[in-house]
Amino acid sequence: MPAWPSFSDAEILAARPPRRPVDPWRPYAFLTEPECQPDGRVEEVATLFLTNRECPFRCLMCDLWRHTTEATVPAGAIPAQIDHALARLPPTRHVKLYNSGNFFDRRAIPPADHAAIADRVQGFATVIVENHPRLCGEAVLRFRDRLAGRLEVAMGLETVHPEVLPRLNKRMTLEDYARAVAFLRAHDVPVRAFILLRPPFLSEAEGIDWALRSLTWAFDAGVACGVVIPTRPGNGMLERLAAQGLFEPPRLASLERVLEAGLRLRRGRVFVDLWDAERFFECDRCGPARRERLHRMNLTQTILPPVRCAGPCAMAG
Ligand code: SF4
Ligand SMILES: [Zn+2]
Repeated sequence: MPAWPSFSDAEILAARPPRRPVDPWRPYAFLTEPECQPDGRVEEVATLFLTNRECPFRCLMCDLWRHTTEATVPAGAIPAQIDHALARLPPTRHVKLYNSGNFFDRRAIPPADHAAIADRVQGFATVIVENHPRLCGEAVLRFRDRLAGRLEVAMGLETVHPEVLPRLNKRMTLEDYARAVAFLRAHDVPVRAFILLRPPFLSEAEGIDWALRSLTWAFDAGVACGVVIPTRPGNGMLERLAAQGLFEPPRLASLERVLEAGLRLRRGRVFVDLWDAERFFECDRCGPARRERLHRMNLTQTILPPVRCAGPCAMAG
């Protein structure tokens, strides 16, 4: 067994940089972006980043708490945030209500607001929320029943590496995850899995290998869609691990490798997260073209010809 350290909630909290100021009556961001749908069509999806009380879990790599509040937001605040965003976004058929945590955490999204939230999103064909596998119960089904469209739940699987997953402090076993997927699928709620590319402790090659193993495991468990997220520093603890040689962000080339291999599985949709992909560019000359290729691969779910760099690029070929 590797001699990797484990960290307590208190240690992870102590490493945090300061929290950003947020307004409980405003989403901290909102946007639309195209996404390949299960039937292969590309359609715009609205994503609302709701401001709410921070997630009670303290995952080693998580920086989502930066845009959260310390107290539960007032009743009515979440519906007001949705109104604010939807009034400013073009119409779409699909919406993600992402809350930097777990939608069915009662202290994050007050259950008393569920009816008003459902009212706001009646016009959408798909409503996607994030949740922790251990918070998937009857409340999910009650919310599903309030919607005119289809509910989908996104859950962080992170990694199936047996030594890394417990060290991520997610307080979840693979059995918890598989049980939650089975429960949701049995109730017609499709699941998308978030998978980390190169979480702490892994080398670049191991990061690729375990991202693909995690994708395969997720599809075997019944997940419909896998989203691979390059592990990014920013929460304090990852910077500390980086200083100890226990964490390094993945390379863009690894993201390319994982998307190609993930699509080759042909088990379901596979996306790579390209938010701030610029930070993974190693060459100004080919970085934007590589990002664009990954974007088009996300949209088409096909493997496109690799980018050949014409410049002096370590990643060429
Ligand atoms: S459960 Fe999700 S939101 Fe909560 S700390 Fe872990 S990664 Fe962050
Ligand atoms: Zn280049």
